This record gives sequence, structure tokens and C-alpha cells, in this order.
Amino acid sequence: MKTVIVGGVAGGATAAARLRRLDEHAEILILERSAYVSYANCGLPYYISGVIEKEEELTIQTPESLKRRFQIEVRVRSEVTKIDRAKKTVTVKQDGKTYTESYDKLILSPGAKAVTPAFESDKLFTLRTVEDTANIKRYLDKTNPKTAIVIGGGFIGLEMAENLLTRGIKTILMQRGNHILPPFDFDMASQLNQHLRQNGLDLRFQQNVEQFEEKNNQLIVTANGVSIAADFVLFAAGVVPETHLAAQAGLQLGIKGAIVVNDRMQTSDPDIYAVGDAVQIHHFVTQAPAHIALAGPANKQGRIAADNIYGLDSRFQGAQGSSVIRLFDMTAAATGLNETAAKQANIEYDKVVTYSPDHATYYPGASNMTIKTLFEQKSGRIIGAQITGFSGVDKRIDVLATAIRAKMTAADLAELDLAYAPPYSSAKDPVNMAGFVIENIRSGLVRQHHPEQIKSLQKQDGTFLDVRTNAEFAAGHLPRAINIPLDSLRQNLNRIDKNKPVYVNCQSGLRSYIACRILSAHGFTCSNLSGGYRFYQVIEENQ
Ligand code: FAD
Repeated sequence: MKTVIVGGVAGGATAAARLRRLDEHAEILILERSAYVSYANCGLPYYISGVIEKEEELTIQTPESLKRRFQIEVRVRSEVTKIDRAKKTVTVKQDGKTYTESYDKLILSPGAKAVTPAFESDKLFTLRTVEDTANIKRYLDKTNPKTAIVIGGGFIGLEMAENLLTRGIKTILMQRGNHILPPFDFDMASQLNQHLRQNGLDLRFQQNVEQFEEKNNQLIVTANGVSIAADFVLFAAGVVPETHLAAQAGLQLGIKGAIVVNDRMQTSDPDIYAVGDAVQIHHFVTQAPAHIALAGPANKQGRIAADNIYGLDSRFQGAQGSSVIRLFDMTAAATGLNETAAKQANIEYDKVVTYSPDHATYYPGASNMTIKTLFEQKSGRIIGAQITGFSGVDKRIDVLATAIRAKMTAADLAELDLAYAPPYSSAKDPVNMAGFVIENIRSGLVRQHHPEQIKSLQKQDGTFLDVRTNAEFAAGHLPRAINIPLDSLRQNLNRIDKNKPVYVNCQSGLRSYIACRILSAHGFTCSNLSGGYRFYQVIEENQ
């Protein structure tokens, strides 16, 4: 059996190696358009700054090493230009020559391509391949630019901005909407803005790029009518599935033109499989069609395609978009649905925002992380999470990603038996804490309101009670709030009108929860501000 694979990086190389491990006698041919196979796309931004020093470190395998260990034939600089499904052949263009190659099974893993503007310049770059990286690196080494504009605040734009700043290049990041990182909600993404700015990034929102112009050896970007010049521009405004081959072959396409596959990664032609950034999968939580361009799903799908070609019954269960990014000292991570996606899916959800230390506070070096956990109101099932913080974020998002995969509820989260010693966690891990808080809300022990409700609540007749210390209150508080520190609340209950609802806040939501329990026990109707004043304040500042 001869399997031909188009694209030899994440999905394609994984499929090839798995197929070899399953079938010693299979004929396996990878056709790769670029000059490299099985390279580390995810490491490319770090090579540009010099954090990864050698280009060789980005190439995990070479055609020679794949041949030596796996008996896989790899032809680089070989672009597949056509699929003939009737004859079961592909047309390949290599060094100006064209030939056809037959297949029994074909795997398409052509990835995605960067969205590009309708403007060409040697000072305008996109980043997708090793060649793109080499171009950028060469340009930086040769011209030693002082200023850059990055267009797009997604993962690649932000990682590049960090790496350009690491190289000492003054960098402006222009983002179209009101927040960076589309998998995050505005409130969570806003938690990162100050840190980025403190590290030198000139972060600008609501930037609609209208025009490029080259002048005086610089590129001028005009956005919202304002022109800014920089030595070069990185355009990182997203990717689209690279599916012109599949379209030409008449394979069924879905959202964003991605290739439709079944759970065995089979396209509408049973002899053609497709994996990775080029395919439409279903979202694990909503089961709705989705396009999720990440390395984890691409690798898993490559393995599944190989399994099925060999005859094993492997199925892809869907992706949930688990992702993580380091931004200087901070880490941001997300999994499952954010609020926009939950609304789109018509899920009746609620959310909690917790602020927990990464490890025991009495052990040196503890830092807090903000965790936003979304849950289905009726069942308590966890449907999404976002975390920002400094340490321990990656571990908690993976626990929450696993919880979502296992269809766990908040009660399950509360009970998770997680490893603890003071340098690593607390006896009540941040994930347990999220479970406790959701349980408190679902059982009616406490009510909560969210920062976005404050404005409308303030128009109604209620008491805003801040239970932080006098000093904290003096440093900033909600409009109309009165201050009774938690430890003196029991003695001052007569200062609060029992006939009006009481909206309580502290800094993070913990002291105000205790206050709410005290107030409820004394007959008050009380609601706790989710995420506390700290969370509210960051949102307000970034509105
Ligand atoms: P790719 O790995 O992109 O491979 C596709 C290959 O197919 C390409 O080499 C291309 O040259 C080749 N090809 C295309 N068309 C043809 C053709 N007609 N003939 C022959 N060859 C063809 N994901 C994460 O999860 N975490 C990260 O931190 C992360 N960081 C990233 C950083 C950067 C800079 C980039 C660019 C991507 C990053 N990603 C990350 C995304 C991740 O790399 C992709 O999701 C993953 O590589 C997709 O695998 P794939 O096999 O579908 O496509």
C-alpha cells in the first residue's frame, strides 16, 4: 500500500511516522513544498529574538533522518499542484519540473496560510514557515531596524512583539478589536495589557488598518486615519485553511473553506484523509463544526489518519482549543468556550472569577492567578476556562482542560485530589477553589453579580458595601460605596438598610463572600462582586 502525504510538518510528519510504526512494509512518501520537513513552527518567533540560537534547532527531522530511522521518503521543494481522484494521482512540481505520483491513500496536511494584505514590500512580513523566519531574521540582522509595527494581537503577533522587544526594537502592536487574544474574553485579556505596556509594548486597540505606503526607507501604516512610520511591519492578522488543492479536487469544504472530514479524518473521498489546520472538526464542548488551528489537534489527527489507513478504528473526538502563551513574565491560557462562544452556542452559562495563589502563601515567591471558569447553569458542567498569572497557570489550565474533556461538573472540580506541597500548590488548589465557588453559587449559599452589571445596578436602589480596609478603600472604590471593613462588619450592621439589596465587594471576592454569609445570616439580601474590585478596576481601566 502506498500512502502519499502532502505537507510534512505537524500533521503530515506525525502521520508518516505513525504509519511506519504500524506497518513496516508500507510505502510512504511525503511531498513538502518548503525546503524543510518536520520543523518547529511554534519555535519560530524565539529564533528571531535569538532565544533559540541555531536554525538547526528548529528542524526536528530532516529528509535524511526520516529515511534512516523510518524508511520514509521525503521530497522537499515539492509542491503538489493537483489531485486526480479518478486516476488516484497527484501532480508534483519540483525545481520547475512536473510529474505525477500515484497513491493508494492520500493524506492532506497542507496547514493554513497567513492572511496577507494587498500590498507588497520587502519591509512587510508574515510568519508561517522557516523561510519566512529566515527572511525576517536576515532583514533584522542586515538592517538593524529600530522600530516595528505588528498588526494583529493573536498568539503569533504577541509572541513576535515580545521577541522583537527582546531584540531591543521599539514595537507598536495594532489590534483591530478591543482586546488581544481572541480565545479570551475582554475582561481576562485586559488583565494582560498593563504587563505588556510595562514591558515596553505600545499596545493600541480598535485599529482598522487602511493603508500601507513606503516612504524614506520606512513603511507607513495608516489606521483610523492616523499614519505611523516604522522600519518594518509584521502582519499577523490570522490564518485561513490552505485548501485550494482540496477545492480543485472537488472535496467537500466547510467553514472558512476548511476540508470536511469525518471522525476518522476521512474527507468526502474515502481514499483521501485530511488533518491539521486545513480541516473542519467539531468542537468538543458544543459539537458544532469548528476550525481550530493548533499543533496539538494536528498531531493527534495525523496519528488517527495513519491508524485508520492501517485498519485501526481510531476516532477524533473533537478539539476544545486549549492554548497557552507566555508574555514576558506572565502566562495566559484558555480551554473550552469563552463567553462569546457560549452565547453563540445558546448555552445557559454562568461564570466565576477566582484569584488564587499558585502555591502556599507562607512559602516564598507565591503569586496570584486570575481564573475565570464558565459552567452550564443547569448541570454545573464545566465548559470553559481562562487563566492569567505568573506561575502555575499552565498546570491549572491542563487540569481544567482534562475536566472539560471528562465532562466534569463543579462538584467534581471541588473534589479533585491534586498534588500538594507548599512550593507547588495549596491544600485547596486554585482549581478546587473554582469548584468550591461554583458550588456555593449553585447551592444558593451566595449570590453574585458581575462587573458588567455594576452600572445598571447603580441606577437601582441598593447599598454598595466595600469590606476592604480603610486604606484599600481610600485608594479607590466603586461609586456610591460605603466602607465597613470585614472584621468590624458584625458591629456595624445597623449602618446598612435591611430593606435594600446589599452589593458587597472586597479586593478579590473572598472577604466579600464571608461578608455575604454574615449578612445573609442577619437577614440581609446580599450579592458578591465576582472577581472583586481588582478585576472590576482592570476592566474599567481598559474600557
Ligand atoms: P503545518 O505544520 O503548517 O504544515 C503544513 C505544511 O504543508 C507546510 O510546511 C507547507 O509548506 C506544506 N504544504 C502546503 N501546501 C502544500 C502543497 N500543495 N504541496 C506540498 N506541501 C504543501 N500551535 C500551538 O498549538 N502552539 C503554539 O505555540 C504555536 N505556535 C505557532 C507559532 C507560529 C509562528 C506558527 C506559524 C504556528 C504556531 N502554531 C502553534 C500552530 C501550529 O504550528 C499549527 O497548528 C500546526 O503546525 C498545523 O499543522 P499542519 O500539519 O496542519 O500544518
